[in-house]
Amino acid sequence: DAAAASPIITYDDVPANRIGELETSIGFYQAIELAENSLLFSKQSKYQDIEVHKSKFYGKILVLDGVIQVTERDADSYNEMMAHIPMFQHPNPKRVLIVGGGDGYVLKEVLKHHSVEHVDHVDLDEDVIHTCEEYFPQWGDAWKDPRAFLHICDGAQFVRDAADGTYDVIIQDSSDPFVVGEDGTMTTLPSAALYEEDHICQLHRILKPNGILNIQGESFNVPTSLGGIISWRRNMEACGFKRTRYGSIMTSSYPTGQIGLLLGEKEPSLSADYASVSRRYREMISNEKKTTYYHPPLQKGCFELPLWAHENIYGSE
Ligand code: SAM
Repeated sequence: DAAAASPIITYDDVPANRIGELETSIGFYQAIELAENSLLFSKQSKYQDIEVHKSKFYGKILVLDGVIQVTERDADSYNEMMAHIPMFQHPNPKRVLIVGGGDGYVLKEVLKHHSVEHVDHVDLDEDVIHTCEEYFPQWGDAWKDPRAFLHICDGAQFVRDAADGTYDVIIQDSSDPFVVGEDGTMTTLPSAALYEEDHICQLHRILKPNGILNIQGESFNVPTSLGGIISWRRNMEACGFKRTRYGSIMTSSYPTGQIGLLLGEKEPSLSADYASVSRRYREMISNEKKTTYYHPPLQKGCFELPLWAHENIYGSE
């Protein structure tokens, strides 16, 4: 029957066709070992465990609560996509909010758009900012731009306090909302509040009528995350985003080498058309604001998913 042909999973389910490949150990499914790795810095901040490592292949690596956040080798993939997909989807982004992203890389990419007049950047943890300023100065100088305003506080609280219709684009570059332990138990992390339905509805409220939201969307290859993607997308729709899509990104240092973004458009008929995306991109790179991973074909192409992932995320839509 149709339901059996196109299964829709619930949060706790694992898609049947992935069990064999992924369930190599309870909870983690897969482990990455970085060759010739050494610890450069370690600090327990008020909110999380911060480490900087150096490995021969990946260069310097920021790790929070044991989870890789960025590596010097492949950070371009995630950060360029997190920034440029929503920035180009909006026809003329002037006012931007970034929640999370304490390494500064998404901010640096957002500032490449000459239409930008003001960026509020909210991160919970000033220790992450200071660590990145010291160890990743190639991204950590973005806060010097006069258009950037850094706020050290909880992103959920900042958003609750913001006025209706303030932003053209909101990018939520948060760390994972939870970790699954070796015994299968789930522990929530400081960013868990940023994935609650109430917070997503607040983000919808503070966007302008043609506003665009982009949130870190986890990997569809990890069963617990796939359940999350489905429920976060439902939350975005319940909060009023008329079009919500999962875009895929290849990042070799993340578990399974894949991560994604969830893009919500308040009014897709007012979003940018592809010809203007290409024109604006050419203008941007001709001003020496180059990219290495993002280019306009990905503005459409990242949303084309493998069949099983498409069926699980979109069902019969
Ligand atoms: N690219 C990364 C990834 O997904 O692996 C995320 C990078 S960024 C370093 C994540 C940031 O989210 C951290 O700087 C952390 O301090 C911040 N963060 C976590 N919870 C937050 C909250 N409730 N409000 C604001 N920032 C938060």
